[in-house]
Amino acid sequence: MDPACEASDLLVDFMNTRPIDGARDTLHDWLARRAGEPIDRADAAAGEEFRAHLLVLLDASSSTVAATSYLNRMAARYPLVTVISEEGGRLRPAQGGVFGVFGALLAAITDLTYRGAWARVKVCQNLGCHRAFFDKTRNMSGLYCGPACSAQASTRAYRNRQKVA
Ligand SMILES: [Zn+2]
Repeated sequence: MDPACEASDLLVDFMNTRPIDGARDTLHDWLARRAGEPIDRADAAAGEEFRAHLLVLLDASSSTVAATSYLNRMAARYPLVTVISEEGGRLRPAQGGVFGVFGALLAAITDLTYRGAWARVKVCQNLGCHRAFFDKTRNMSGLYCGPACSAQASTRAYRNRQKVA
C-alpha cells in the first residue's frame, strides 16, 4: 500500500500555506477554496492557530503538551462522523464550510495514524526551510523535503567538519 494519500496531501498542503522563502501566507485563500465559501477574519485566525500548533507537533523539537491540548479542544469543536459505504467506514467532518475543512484536517490525522503513517508527516530539518513533507522512505528516516535541501544540509555538515578539523 502506498502510504501517501489524500490525507497526507491535505496536511502537507495546509502546513505549506505558511510563508516559506519570503512567499506570502496563502492560508486565507487555501481555507476559502477548500471551504467553498468566503471566510472571515476569525476563521483565518483559527486556521493560523491550528497550523501553528500542528507545526509544534510535527517539529517535536519542543514540548508538545500545549499543542496537543489545543488540538484536542479543536477536535471537540469540529466533530467527525463515521460514514458507511460498501468499502467500509470513513471519518468525515460533521459540519460544512470552513469548520468542515478543520474537521477534514483532523480526520486526515486520524486516518494516517490508523495507517501507521502519521510519523511520516514531517517538517524539513534543513535550516531555514521548515517545509512540511511526507516521508516516503522505507524506514521513515527522511529528514529533508527534497534533494535540494538534503544537498544543502550535507554541504553544511561537511563545512562544519572542516572547520573543526
Ligand atoms: Zn526543505
